[in-house]
Amino acid sequence: MSDKLFQFLSLPRQTPRTVPVAIRVLGYGEIAGDFAPPEAAAQAGRCIDCGNPYCEHACPVHNYIPNWLKLVQENRLFEAATLMHETNPLPEICGRVCPQDRLCEGACTLEQGDFGAVTIGSVERWVVDEAFRQGWRPDLSRVRETGRRVAVVGAGPAGLACADRLRRAGVAVDVYDRQREIGGLLTFGIPPFKLDKQVVRTRRAVLEEMGVAFRLGVEIGHDLPFRELLESYDAVFVGTGAYTYVDGKLPGRELHGVHDALPFLIANVDRLLDDAPPPPLLDLKGKRVVVLGGGDTGMDCNRTAVRLGAASVTCVYRRDEASMPGSAREVGYSREEGVQFLFNRQPVALLGEDGRVGAVRVVATELHDDGSGRLAPRNVPGSEADLPADVVIQAFGFRASPAPWFAEFGIAVDKDGRVLAGGEGRLPFQTTHPQVFAGGDNVRGADLVVRAVHDGREAAASIVRMLQRVEAPALAHA
Ligand SMILES: Cc1cc2nc3c(=O)[nH]c(=O)nc-3n(C[C@H](O)[C@H](O)[C@H](O)COP(=O)(O)OP(=O)(O)OC[C@H]3O[C@@H](n4cnc5c(N)ncnc54)[C@H](O)[C@@H]3O)c2cc1C
Ligand code: SF4
Repeated sequence: MSDKLFQFLSLPRQTPRTVPVAIRVLGYGEIAGDFAPPEAAAQAGRCIDCGNPYCEHACPVHNYIPNWLKLVQENRLFEAATLMHETNPLPEICGRVCPQDRLCEGACTLEQGDFGAVTIGSVERWVVDEAFRQGWRPDLSRVRETGRRVAVVGAGPAGLACADRLRRAGVAVDVYDRQREIGGLLTFGIPPFKLDKQVVRTRRAVLEEMGVAFRLGVEIGHDLPFRELLESYDAVFVGTGAYTYVDGKLPGRELHGVHDALPFLIANVDRLLDDAPPPPLLDLKGKRVVVLGGGDTGMDCNRTAVRLGAASVTCVYRRDEASMPGSAREVGYSREEGVQFLFNRQPVALLGEDGRVGAVRVVATELHDDGSGRLAPRNVPGSEADLPADVVIQAFGFRASPAPWFAEFGIAVDKDGRVLAGGEGRLPFQTTHPQVFAGGDNVRGADLVVRAVHDGREAAASIVRMLQRVEAPALAHA
């Protein structure tokens, strides 16, 4: 018993081996390897069941982490997969893309004691991958159909999580998306070296087996009026994401060779999905690439540029490394793959000749406390310098992108365009239209997959409550 309790002393934290850098940069395969079953059980056994699981509190969906780690130690794989799905409809995806260092693992008691956190994310991912491989599927055999129907707009993580919960409550679900594949930014944003697209396809098959119907290539408000959804369904969940680029308003941004991050990343995913030759936008061979922005999107652009054969990739960020908003793991991978970081530099202009970009003018910054709670950069006068660049990728982030039809249906948004959901007199995630619920990036602004999953899950619970109130049908699970 005590040997087991102190396993963390003799067994160090170990993540699955990553593909060596020289090999990984040649392609787009996931770089994180898999645990072998004994490794997963041993790593799970490092959990000391500390009694106050800070990891659970820090996990946005409040996963029952110590409980499923115990099941993994005992080789009870299917039970672990079932327990994971009680709180998280997409555990294999969160296990891959969550910034664990800022969430569950950052809060692990062992991490606080400098012993190295339990590898929670890698175990979560391994359990579900392996359970799927061995034929485990969510058990809906006791679900009674309610005869109620809900439309979900957006097949991103918020919409998928909502659809999963609604099916478990016996509600029929049609998920609409303008894209040709499900996943939202999981498919058309996050690159395959972080999340293999086959993982999303497997999840699609699982959801379809659960009875979720996907209506893809349909843009609501364009191909199908929103009114039809309101008339045909008992409720609608809107998980349409946040797609307005933050514009750095840099002089010269219209120059040839300057790209926004998302079209760049999507062009790469598109040609990989279709096995097509790269469009000119992706021709980076031998070029000096400068990526502007220090978030997750910036790191994805860095690493995609490396794989496209750039001669050099320099990432410019206006604060210091400690202030970077993305995952430290992704910064580390960028560095391993040869990306140079230039911290405390503010881009002020893009310079070029004959309509083509040739350099980024940057100015040094110093950080100061402006009372906002986060150190703010201030330009140092006279410190301008020009960074040579053949291609510049702007990754300044995203804001909410409210649909033009929101206003017509009384779906209110705040001054930043985020849908107002929940609050006084409304169910959690219910919008100002009582039949319409919303969650994910369109409510929060650009955020994280796991928070979108949380919102979809909780919105589904609210929808089920509303449907019960309206006609009180007997629902199997709420
Ligand atoms: C490049 C990049 C990398 C990222 N990396 C990470 C990461 O490593 N870890 C992490 O946790 N988060 C990451 N994020 C953030 C994360 O992807 C988002 O927070 C998350 O996907 C939001 O989920 P969502 O369901 O709200 O929206 P989305 O994933 O954006 O999905 C919205 C869906 O709605 C569809 N849609 C919109 N309007 C309509 C309409 N009118 N009709 C039909 N369909 C419509 C869209 O096509 C889309 O499929 C990253 C984001 C980007 C851009
Ligand atoms: S969902 Fe994310 S934060 Fe929660 S346990 Fe899994 S990896 Fe950690």
